[in-house]
Amino acid sequence: MVKIWVNSADSHVLEPHDLWRDALPKRLADRAPRAERADGRETVYVDGQIIRRDPIAFSDAMRPPGAEDPRIRLEDLDEQGVWAEVVFPSRALWTTIMTDRELARECGKAYNDWCLSEVMGVSPRFVGVAVVSVLDTDDAVAELARAVSAGYRAVFLPATPPEGRDFNNEVWEPLWAAAAEADIPICFHIGTGAEQKVARGPGGAVINYVETFYPAQRTVAHLVASGVLDRYPGLRIVMAESGATFVPALADRMDEAYRQHDMFVRPKLSRRPSEIIYSQVYASFQHDPSAIGTATALGFRNVMWGSDYPHLEGTFPNTQKVLHELFDDVAQDVRRRITIDCFNEVFGVAEPPVTV
Ligand code: MN
Repeated sequence: MVKIWVNSADSHVLEPHDLWRDALPKRLADRAPRAERADGRETVYVDGQIIRRDPIAFSDAMRPPGAEDPRIRLEDLDEQGVWAEVVFPSRALWTTIMTDRELARECGKAYNDWCLSEVMGVSPRFVGVAVVSVLDTDDAVAELARAVSAGYRAVFLPATPPEGRDFNNEVWEPLWAAAAEADIPICFHIGTGAEQKVARGPGGAVINYVETFYPAQRTVAHLVASGVLDRYPGLRIVMAESGATFVPALADRMDEAYRQHDMFVRPKLSRRPSEIIYSQVYASFQHDPSAIGTATALGFRNVMWGSDYPHLEGTFPNTQKVLHELFDDVAQDVRRRITIDCFNEVFGVAEPPVTV
């Protein structure tokens, strides 16, 4: 089987459990994210609160050695056929549910310093994603500037913002302006941020998985309808792990509202919602066969493949099988667009050793 080389727009690194303990003063370190194992479960604490309890078997299944060690990770990538990858955090994702401004800011800074030296410093194939405060825009703007000057080419925000800070709220404006000015994409990762809706009862596992993808739609709707992306036409946003097929449907629905409910629409936009979405919104998927038709039949070109390494929802250790199933019958230019060129357009050029 010929190896298909790709870039991945979605993966995660697992921070050392003592990252914040070593990097922060004790009064903050004690409240930073930490995990404890007992009675077959791993319990995650953030700021003293229990925020997650998983069976240890589930936690371990998502942690091959390459999750924590970037040198082992490179061996996995070579074996899987992934060249460059966008590397989101794991434990630092919890900064987005913190309620203390200083804690969120300092945990994010410590993560960014660590990722820069211990992950991005190991290989240019790792594209780190800077963590900024979701509680205070001044803090976020300052950290964005620090991250950009250190070499970051992407910034992370959660798909669900804290209460009172919806993404159409003007409190965010300085961050949109700063990201546009720095020409750095904002990467929203699904399943992150303020309290996620949890379903109980029959179907819960699948229902809860589906629930994680609604906030991606909400975020795009907020940023387009409120005029954010219209005001900053160079600003690009990425929906990571959301799938891409929803995007044209959302664009249709927003155009319909914008046109048919014209008498209610504020602010007016200089372009139709669909034009803004098709030029400034990007989305990544792992397995979805329908994502390819989105790029071809539906004309939404900003579709990126991502492995989601090392998560259970991702393609590791079967990446080549997945890629062949997805792309063997797909035109070369389409495959290249989805697996390499779209990534390069957003994150800078990273050319695999053997390209399609
Ligand atoms: Mn992911």
